Amino acid sequence: MLTDAQWDDAQRERDKVGRLSATIGLVLLGAQTPAAMWVADQLGHGGWRYVIAAAGALAVGLPLVVAIIRYSSRESAKTDGRLRHMSHQLNEAIMAAGEEAARRDSQAIRQKFESHLTNALDMAEGEREIFEVVERSMAVAVPEAKSELLLADNSHAHLVRSAAAGFDPGESGCPVDSPDHCPAARRAQVQIFADRDDLDACPKLRHRDADHASGVCIPVSIMGRTVGVIHSAHGSPRVPPEEQVGNLSTLAKLAGARIGLLRAMAESQLQASTDSLTGLMNRRSFEERLSEYRRTYRDMAVAMADVDHFKELNDTYGHETGDRALRMFARVLRESLRTDDLLCRFGGEEFAMAFPSCSAIDAARCLSKVHERIEEATSVSGLPLLSASYGVTEMTPHSDLVTVLGRADSALFTAKREGRNRVVVDPDLLTNDEVLADLPS
Ligand code: GH3
Ligand code: MG
Ligand code: MG
Repeated sequence: MLTDAQWDDAQRERDKVGRLSATIGLVLLGAQTPAAMWVADQLGHGGWRYVIAAAGALAVGLPLVVAIIRYSSRESAKTDGRLRHMSHQLNEAIMAAGEEAARRDSQAIRQKFESHLTNALDMAEGEREIFEVVERSMAVAVPEAKSELLLADNSHAHLVRSAAAGFDPGESGCPVDSPDHCPAARRAQVQIFADRDDLDACPKLRHRDADHASGVCIPVSIMGRTVGVIHSAHGSPRVPPEEQVGNLSTLAKLAGARIGLLRAMAESQLQASTDSLTGLMNRRSFEERLSEYRRTYRDMAVAMADVDHFKELNDTYGHETGDRALRMFARVLRESLRTDDLLCRFGGEEFAMAFPSCSAIDAARCLSKVHERIEEATSVSGLPLLSASYGVTEMTPHSDLVTVLGRADSALFTAKREGRNRVVVDPDLLTNDEVLADLPS
């Protein structure tokens, strides 16, 4: 690299040569003219003296002038060389700066895409909304391609199209049907297929129509497991631009992470609200749902159930059989109730239920049939026969939750006291003999 100091030196050198040449020329001219005139006076007369003087001056001056010219042009060539070198270096520097600016621009565009995507995914509340973000992002990242997100279903055996961009309505995408059959998902590596006719092109791409001449497949991982792929097919053979592959990779990474986070949150919410032994909701979530139901339904029956002599069953058959009996009881209750009815394991061998838009009498009728179903279930599963006692009351939008559950518990206590294996309706609700006669025995 030529420095400013070197360039200044070169300039000074050239000026020096110029000055030196002029000085030498003048000195020579001054020195040789009298000598040439003297020699000419000695050798000739008349006009010949001038010819001889000129020839003498030429003979002495010419080699010196030639030498000075050659020296001067060598110095000039050196300066030109330095100039060329500098200009070359300047061009290279301009090109490097241009490449750096382009790299920074593309990096800035990618960062902008990533930050918009992060924001959009952060705002997406469920998987449906995430898929909408993925669709819009694919359209931005590779506007001219047909792109889709294929994700494994719960069994992990089938890939399902979860988002698509650039397809005509009804147009099908990549025919791959399972993560194990997708090279990108199986290898957990980005796959670029520049030409469907290449020897090593993906067979799924080769068998698609000519609209899909090249493709990029980016694996999608959720909670550390590769469960899908973003597939982007282009109409002409090409190696996709680096930024497009980069943006699709960012999309696959961020969408997978967001879906993973939502699934983990849903899983932990489910765990927090579910009883692990029976799979029913637990007491806390039952009380939350009951509060919601109270605002939605004007009338509602609420019941408590308690397995009879359960301690004896445990003591006789062991805790393991006790657990199986609880699971069986929970299942029979679930099957006896309607879809909208609430059922929870309240604790131990106690269960609580809510029957929206239902009277206490109708709920009591429903529960009185549970016993027969338990008989059937125990004979099938080989469990010892068990029974339960129930207390039923009613709830209105203005009822206090604790009071209502207390009234149901109190009716349950009456059922226990009266001999167990029965349904007792809150006596405050029973105003006349007609209702009492309607009660299940
Ligand atoms: P009652 O008819 O008066 O309700 O008598 P009970 O024996 O059912 O009631 P008690 O409250 O005396 O005993 C309840 C038993 O339930 C005691 C406890 O060990 C058992 N139990 C509570 N939770 C579980 C559980 O998750 N698994 C098993 N196997 N037993 C449980
Ligand atoms: Mg109990
Ligand atoms: Mg009990």
